[in-house]
Parts: sequence; structure tokens; C-alpha cells
Amino acid sequence: MTLLDLKNLRISIPTERGLLNAVRGVDLALKSGETLCLVGESGCGKSLTAMTLMGLGPKTARTGADRFTLLGHDMVGKKPKAWSALRGRGLSVIFQDPMTSLNPTLTVGRQLTEGVIRSEGITRREADIRAIELLERVGIARPGQRLGQYPHQFSGGQRQRLMIAMALMSRPKFLIADEPTTALDVTIQAQILTVLAGLQRDLGLGLLLITHDLGVVAAIADRVAVMYAGRIVEEGLTDTIFRTPAHPYTAGLMAAIPVPGRTRRGMPLPAIPGRVPGLIGEVRGCAFCDRCARALPVCAQVAPPVVQVQGHPVECHLYATEGAQ
Ligand code: SF4
Repeated sequence: MTLLDLKNLRISIPTERGLLNAVRGVDLALKSGETLCLVGESGCGKSLTAMTLMGLGPKTARTGADRFTLLGHDMVGKKPKAWSALRGRGLSVIFQDPMTSLNPTLTVGRQLTEGVIRSEGITRREADIRAIELLERVGIARPGQRLGQYPHQFSGGQRQRLMIAMALMSRPKFLIADEPTTALDVTIQAQILTVLAGLQRDLGLGLLLITHDLGVVAAIADRVAVMYAGRIVEEGLTDTIFRTPAHPYTAGLMAAIPVPGRTRRGMPLPAIPGRVPGLIGEVRGCAFCDRCARALPVCAQVAPPVVQVQGHPVECHLYATEGAQ
């Protein structure tokens, strides 16, 4: 089943300095059982894209798309209310910071069960049974007892596990997770992602994971979409993208990951020089031009075409000039 079909998403935000064209024509698609990771540096538009997919984009944003289907529902031009109907009926989200999503004054049990009791009309006992099962699956010990506790009685990692359980209470088909482990230390991050990947597989969920952590991507993604300056510049199978990145920006990101056996301890990793361009007003040519070691004269003048390279789309003049490979 196609969970997400997005074509030419555009998001602009009015600022004092002019219109910020933060997302400039993004295409994304996701089916049941797939994990797609959206990656890129901060400020590339990935979180704004995710928030918009969740129906939580900024109020001042001007948003448009040629096609935007979520769980079979047409969402083009829809108001946030339309998302409320989808949340709890197939769509669920996990946020970066559990403390902004958990209510400190309510027990964890109440927070896990209230929504499904209301939306599905099940009894408190049935909802408690489901909550206990999920807490067990996300690795919270003695779940029956912990239902009566408050969020501050859980550690940071446990709170993120609670968030995963809460997101799964409504038995969603499509889960969007925006940097779900950023606030945690590395060991805990790995544990949480293992839990998330296991649940995705077991429940056949479609998972859209937004992250800047390529280690995470390598571990759990089926496909990777690389975002730069508000555009997807390359999208393909994880293995292909990691082994043979085609876009110079993707290649730069991959070169900056330590590789066991190849990267010596203390050895500096190459960083992509320069900075992401400002996106106020129109971008002329390729947005990566000022940072690209392979730039051609045409790159500064003409927006790059999307070309199929190794069977997946890449937005770059190199392949249009040399012929698609
Ligand atoms: Fe580099 Fe040109 Fe490709 Fe942009 S279009 S990534 S500047 S080669």
C-alpha cells in the first residue's frame, strides 16, 4: 500500500528579509513495510518537510504541492484539522524531545491509553493490556507497575521508549520520526534505534525517519533521500547510495563518515567546505555550486536536471553532460 505520495512540495516562509524558499519542490514516496531516511545538514529543509507531512508546519508558511496523498487521502490545501483525523487512524509521529510531548502531570498509563479509549471506544482494561504489551516490546521492565508512574520517574532513554510505545498505541501504518534520538547519548541512541527498527519490521510499518546521522541510516534504511537547500538531490537504495554516491554532495557526506578499518583513530575526516546558501528569493543554477569541487561552468547559471544514474534520480549537470550511467 502506498502510504505517502508527494510531488513538488514547496514551502516558503515570509521573513523580514524577504520570502525564504525553504523547500523548493520535493518528491517523496513510501510504501508499507519500507524505511525511508531523509538526510542532510541542518537547515536543508528536512525537519520542515517532516513537520508539514505531520500537518504541523509553521502557521505563517505558504505551502503548495502538485500531489500530496497520505494514507490514500488527498491533503493538498488541507487545514491542520484534516491531520487530526489521520493521527490515530494510521498516521503516528515521534518527536525529538519526549519532554515536550509528555505531560508531566499525568501518569504514563493515562497518556498511553486516553487517545485509543476515545478514538477506538475500547475499555480501559483493553487499553492497559495494549499499553503493557507495547512497553514490554520497547524494553521497559515491569510495565504493569510503571503505568502508574509519571514521566519524571523515567530516564531520558526510557522516555524516548515511551514515545515509541505511545506512537504505536493506535496501531499505525505510517510512522514519521524526526531525529528521535538526537537528545540521547550514543549508546542509548543505538538501543532505541534497534527497538524502532525491530518494531518497524515486525509490524510492517512504513517508517519515514529524518536524521542527520548517516550511521543510523546505514543500519536501518531501505532507501535514502538526500536533501540539500530545499531539494532532494539524490534518492536511491541505501546500499547503492553508500557504496557509489553519485551526487557530489552525497559523496561529500559519505566521505565524512568514519569507516572501520579504513579511518585511523584521530585522523581528521574530510568536511564539505563552505556553507548552505541562503534561500531568500530565487536560487540561480545549482544551490551546491559554491561548495562543489566538480562544478561545471553551466552549474552557476542553469538549475541542474534530474537524471537517472545507477537506476535512481540524481539532480546534477555532471550526468546530463557525460550521459547517464
Ligand atoms: Fe556540482 Fe554542478 Fe552537480 Fe551542482 S550540478 S552538484 S555544482 S556538478
